[in-house]
Amino acid sequence: MTRLTDLTMAQARDGLAKGEFTSVELTEAHVKAMEAARGLNAYITETPDLALEQAKASDERRRKGEAGAMEGLPVAIKDLFCTKGVRTTAASKILHDFTPPYESTVSDNLLKAGAVSLGKTNLDEFAMGSSNMTSHFGGVTNPWKRRGDDSPLVPGGSSGGSAAAVAARIALGATGTDTGGSIRQPAAFCGIVGIKPTYGRCSRWGTVAFASSLDQAGPMTRTVRDAAIMLGAMAGHDPKDSTSAPMAVPDFEAALTGDIRGLKVGIPKEYRPEGLSDEIAKVWEQGIEWLKAAGAEPVEISLPHTKYALATYYIVAPAEASSNLARYDGVRFGLRVDGKSLDEMYAKTRAEGFGSEVKRRIMIGTYVLSAGYYDAYYAKAQKVRALIAEDFRKAYETVDVILTPTAPSAAFGMGEKMDDPITMYLNDVFTVPTSLAGLPGLSLPAGLNAEGLPLGLQLIGRPFDEETVLKVADVMEQAAGFTARPAGVEG
Ligand code: GLN
Repeated sequence: MTRLTDLTMAQARDGLAKGEFTSVELTEAHVKAMEAARGLNAYITETPDLALEQAKASDERRRKGEAGAMEGLPVAIKDLFCTKGVRTTAASKILHDFTPPYESTVSDNLLKAGAVSLGKTNLDEFAMGSSNMTSHFGGVTNPWKRRGDDSPLVPGGSSGGSAAAVAARIALGATGTDTGGSIRQPAAFCGIVGIKPTYGRCSRWGTVAFASSLDQAGPMTRTVRDAAIMLGAMAGHDPKDSTSAPMAVPDFEAALTGDIRGLKVGIPKEYRPEGLSDEIAKVWEQGIEWLKAAGAEPVEISLPHTKYALATYYIVAPAEASSNLARYDGVRFGLRVDGKSLDEMYAKTRAEGFGSEVKRRIMIGTYVLSAGYYDAYYAKAQKVRALIAEDFRKAYETVDVILTPTAPSAAFGMGEKMDDPITMYLNDVFTVPTSLAGLPGLSLPAGLNAEGLPLGLQLIGRPFDEETVLKVADVMEQAAGFTARPAGVEG
């Protein structure tokens, strides 16, 4: 039999339903694997006792015939979601000992669906980054390595701990959050599936805020079907978040019909910038061929404002971050460093509590929002954002879904790109336009590069049309037949 930790969520769900094993057994297997893989630093806080307690309660519910959609399935929660009674740090020193008295809606939805929580996964501090190297709790190591080369690689970011945990089989799935690519880019770097749903599909309540008009929660899993199952459990209208959409949650799994005949797939010409690596271009071509073979029709489209997306994002996101992070002042919760006056206490607390990338974002954010520069930067960025959204709206008059690469490279070495923020920000070049437009975007593993590292392809959908995105992804997943796994993770 397949090892319990190697099952997909759908397989585990079926095995539990048939009584082949219990949630306690499944959870114990994951707890053991999680402890053996501590070298990855994927978790900031492990909660094995709580997990086993939840697993016992789950087995009990199943006996009574009360199984939910995620009944008994052990998952990991990005440490950006507040969890009642369990430390929530946002990977920042300023929250290093913060234990929330409440549960985020998304993690609560998962628990209510019967899921078991193994613990809280590592991330870039306040979800700012593309490498998971800015965490106060240290970087995460990608379980994948270049062929014949043992040097450690980054898992991507900011949801790097979640991606590494799922790839390393120390969680069946994990929650991520995506502001400009933080679900999709680490999913691509770790050879897993990740979907950022439409802005408003999942509640943001109880999730530590980075950039409120962009932040979205989503699932990170090993298969498209698992993403459909987990997204269904996470999503839904929440009266506590005024930006969550009052829409019914479709049965995402039912959308995986395997039939994409006649669908029009947009191939944006602007996503082929000069210098795009051959291996990325090749995997993209391959993706187009798979879609054609399945009866879909590729159509070249133009998204003319794409070239401004990165600059726009790096104005809007820091602006919102600078405002959101103003609440960390040492008064009511989190770190406090005393000073001679109230002002000095604020300054010392923030100076010591925030890492340098977070400080950089606060500086950029306050600058672009300052009286003298607001119109030149922030107001202008908002206008460009509207144009980017309009590009997509026009494209969706002729196509049903869009296919692009997820990231401009495969996973890079730990420590690389750290001294040059612009190079680091370029990781997001293919993911930020979707975020600015609020659209659903999914990354799936499409192949390996010459060094044996996974490469991802991104599917972008119409607003609230995650179903088409998942349906197409499912077909591509079957065509790709991606069975590779990180060295050391046996089947
Ligand atoms: N890498 C991007 C950033 O640093 C996106 C992060 C995210 O999506 N949370 O802002």
